[in-house]
Amino acid sequence: MTNKIPLAGVIGAPIAHSKSPDLHNYWLKRYGIKGHYVPLHIEQGDLEGVLRALPKMGFVGANVTIPHKERVLALADIVTDRAALIGAANTLIFRSDGKLHADNTDGFGFIENLRANADWNPEVGPAAVFGAGGAARAVIASLLEVGVPEIRLANRTRTRADALKEEFGTKINVVEWVQAGYMLEGARTVVNTTSLGMVGKTEFKVPLDGLEKDAVVTDLVYTPLRTALLKAAEKKGCQTVDGLGMLLYQAVPGFERWYGLRPEVDDATRNFVLSR
Ligand code: NAP
Repeated sequence: MTNKIPLAGVIGAPIAHSKSPDLHNYWLKRYGIKGHYVPLHIEQGDLEGVLRALPKMGFVGANVTIPHKERVLALADIVTDRAALIGAANTLIFRSDGKLHADNTDGFGFIENLRANADWNPEVGPAAVFGAGGAARAVIASLLEVGVPEIRLANRTRTRADALKEEFGTKINVVEWVQAGYMLEGARTVVNTTSLGMVGKTEFKVPLDGLEKDAVVTDLVYTPLRTALLKAAEKKGCQTVDGLGMLLYQAVPGFERWYGLRPEVDDATRNFVLSR
């Protein structure tokens, strides 16, 4: 079956909370593109069959989220270097030759968000990263790519941080979670990649006495938009960048590949997504 109207969607379970359909459909409308983007609640056992079926139904690609981001790599025909390095994909392209192409744009989204919203030079000093889960992998890979000289990394479960050091190399220095506050001295980029501070989760309680005013501080958590970490950093005079921009920027490469136009992330985009 051929469908001239390009379809895309976000595959996950659960998926109802995802902001991606609102974002992509906003851009489709704004740019007058005939296309649709839908949430697809797909359980783990159904992923492979769904990935085979979607191109036949007119889908040109998809975003992938929890719990499929790692598994999808094994099902793809082509995996970009950055997706392989991160060990997960969030953006799929169903190519016209039938091949499944998997990419990871989370790191791109993370870096673009900082570049767009702060006067930020990653090379001037160490980064302090809290958390060693899936999102941390993309953050670490992208920080190394843009030239941070050192990444200090603390995670509640130390072994996960050690595993990232093992993988990403000598620029990573692992710090005990109970001493995470000490990572802040001299750090010029500070990133919370844990879910701490998110609505309904435990607060982010790392002591911030060591935080210096020339640090750029960002939080991947975007509900609430201004987390306690960002508020405290602001009080210290730091530049702060909220996590919503990362979500918006990571969507740009996929939209461009599927619909043929590079969408703009601007206040109107942001305000629309916030209003939903
Ligand atoms: P994940 O793989 O489940 O990792 C969760 C991280 O949070 C781990 O480092 C975990 O530590 C830590 N954590 C959880 N509860 C904790 C607690 N009580 N005390 C200390 N540490 C705790 O999740 P993820 O995919 O990396 O996502 C992490 C956060 O980033 C989520 O809030 C997610 O919504 C957000 N995110 C935002 C964007 C964006 O576009 N802005 C993109 C991706 C993710 P342990 O290893 O010890 O469990």
